[in-house]
Amino acid sequence: MTEQPTVRTTTPRQVRPAGAPADTGIRQVRPKTEGWQQAKDETGRPLLQFASPKRGKPPVHLADLTQDERVAKLKELGLPGFRAKQLEKHYFTHYTSDAADMTDLPASGREELVAGMLPPLLTEVRRLETDRGDTIKFLWKLHDGALVESVLMRYPGRITLCVSSQAGCGMNCPFCATGQAGLTRNMSAGEIIEQIVRANALIAAGGLGGKKRDDHSLDRVSNIVFMGMGEPLANYARVMQAVRVMVDKDHGLGMSARGITVSTVGLVPAIKKLADEDIPVTFALSLHAPDDHLRDELIPVNSRWKVDEALDAARAYFDKTGRRVSIEYALIKDMNDHAWRADLLAEKLNARGRGWVHVNPIPLNPTPGSIWTASEVPVQNEFVRRLNDAGIPTTLRDTRGKEIDGACGQLVATEEDEAAAAVTPVG
Ligand code: SAH
Repeated sequence: MTEQPTVRTTTPRQVRPAGAPADTGIRQVRPKTEGWQQAKDETGRPLLQFASPKRGKPPVHLADLTQDERVAKLKELGLPGFRAKQLEKHYFTHYTSDAADMTDLPASGREELVAGMLPPLLTEVRRLETDRGDTIKFLWKLHDGALVESVLMRYPGRITLCVSSQAGCGMNCPFCATGQAGLTRNMSAGEIIEQIVRANALIAAGGLGGKKRDDHSLDRVSNIVFMGMGEPLANYARVMQAVRVMVDKDHGLGMSARGITVSTVGLVPAIKKLADEDIPVTFALSLHAPDDHLRDELIPVNSRWKVDEALDAARAYFDKTGRRVSIEYALIKDMNDHAWRADLLAEKLNARGRGWVHVNPIPLNPTPGSIWTASEVPVQNEFVRRLNDAGIPTTLRDTRGKEIDGACGQLVATEEDEAAAAVTPVG
């Protein structure tokens, strides 16, 4: 577990941002970091990393391939195409990559076939669970030693897995623990899917607690949120391949697209591409500030795509897919939680029409090295009330898993994780 941040008392600078009402009593804390150094580019702005650093690629896995590619690969190995279907069934329905379980495959060459098509991708290093056992955080080691996490949560009637799409993250948001170490590399579609398959295996074995007696939902992951480590739209092709496998009823996991949420800092060209995919996933925009003045600092990618452009792209996503979009807003004390910002947000959303959006404020989760804290409860309530009164459906979301450092923005490999990983054999 990461250490709790030391809370220091400082006198926050009070700066009235452009666009703020001339009320001098408003406290305005500016984003800054303490206890860690934010990486900067040559012009002194927060460094943005879009390209994945070159590392050894993970082995190609069945889940990285389209149906045709799977069959072609088997043919190359001199095997009939229907073996693909058998492997898919073992992997996506029985959650196994163990050749010993696959007695329907010819014994001779079985080991090699399974090693070639379903190579091991994630080695479990550690597992943390909450007291009730209904939230579990996994720490995984990838083939090259990179560490990622996923968080599994049972709710009444559904099971949600928060998946990672990159090892680390290049978006450098100062309030999120993942960004502090930068981007290690993109994850493959196979590595993304394997997080779900492993979670499903654990659920099938009865490893996820908290199920109520009257809950008749299926015992497998029903909802995916791309809110673990990484910026999913910066790893577009692999994330989309993973999504295709998630929704594929015949050759994949057969999940519902609407149960999959892709969350982004706002990479506008990629949002447009996503809208054209014809897979109606739920779309979430991490806005966190309605004014460029603050968002420029809070979400460094705002230097490329401004608030209005990101909101236009979100609205266009709704037009194209008919799916109501979510706006995520971490409420940070005296930083972005002012009543005038709630009003400005409502104004900007209403200016783009009605019924297309809802807002999910989340009280900030503490991250190491940050002096910021969550907004106070009356301030949170006022923020929510103003949006609701303006006709924007708004629900406060309190994230799960804080006690195991598994909540939004808390996913980061700590020194302790690295030490545990160092003694975990791969495979
Ligand atoms: N890169 C993507 C997905 C990962 S983060 C994105 O930014 O959307 C998932 C959500 O957690 C985002 O809305 C992110 O802004 C939010 N988040 C990050 N750090 C947080 C923190 N310390 N407390 C609460 N939410 C946080």
